[in-house]
Amino acid sequence: MNDEWLERYSRQILLAEIDFSGQEAIAAASVAVVGCGGLGSMIGLYLAGAGVGAITLIDDDVVEVSNLHRQLAFRESDLDDSKSEALARQLRALNHNVVIRAENYRFGSDSVHDAAILQGVDIVLDATDNLDARHHIEATTRKLDLPWIMGAATRLHGQLAAFSSSRKEGCYRCIAPVTTAQRTADCRNEGVLGPVIGVIAAWQAQDALLSLAGKVSPAWGVLRIYDAREQRIDKLAVGPVDGCTHL
Ligand SMILES: [Zn+2]
Repeated sequence: MNDEWLERYSRQILLAEIDFSGQEAIAAASVAVVGCGGLGSMIGLYLAGAGVGAITLIDDDVVEVSNLHRQLAFRESDLDDSKSEALARQLRALNHNVVIRAENYRFGSDSVHDAAILQGVDIVLDATDNLDARHHIEATTRKLDLPWIMGAATRLHGQLAAFSSSRKEGCYRCIAPVTTAQRTADCRNEGVLGPVIGVIAAWQAQDALLSLAGKVSPAWGVLRIYDAREQRIDKLAVGPVDGCTHL
């Protein structure tokens, strides 16, 4: 830890909720971001800026012109490039101290590979756009005893929930049973306002950093629902609901 390091992170080290020991914990931490679109690109910027030690970026999509209104880590010059690799370039340029790994891979397509990618990380951030991927994250993080933070945004609404490694406050299955056949609303068919995604991504990054710093716990097991139109935040305790198979 030298003077440059202290200067770089001085504004968050000043916070009692982070402090020097919290910054050291953040610098020692490894985080996986599943999905490098609207949520993932913004989460990645915050985590790299904050000095998280290692970040794994997972996505098999390429940057499209319809992404640019909200996925602000990307440049026009990144069009048609792999999202995980384009985001990795941006994060390395932002903070050379962070070890960035890009996985050009669709999470959930192979459970063995899913577990291999998440092995050794401290927390997983969901930045996917569908229920199926989140159930794969729930299953893999449960197997590996990892906490994770789900996030979603469409139109003028967003939501997030953080699940501890114990899942004693409930799990993702408690709010979205696997058997639910509901159509997944995503921004491809619903639309989304860029800053609404930014609100949710910032909130997920904030939960991750506070959790890694170890002084303030995120609101484990509380679903937080943001309504940008009504300027309203609602909170719902997730569970565990009866029959939760993860207890
Ligand atoms: Zn459950």
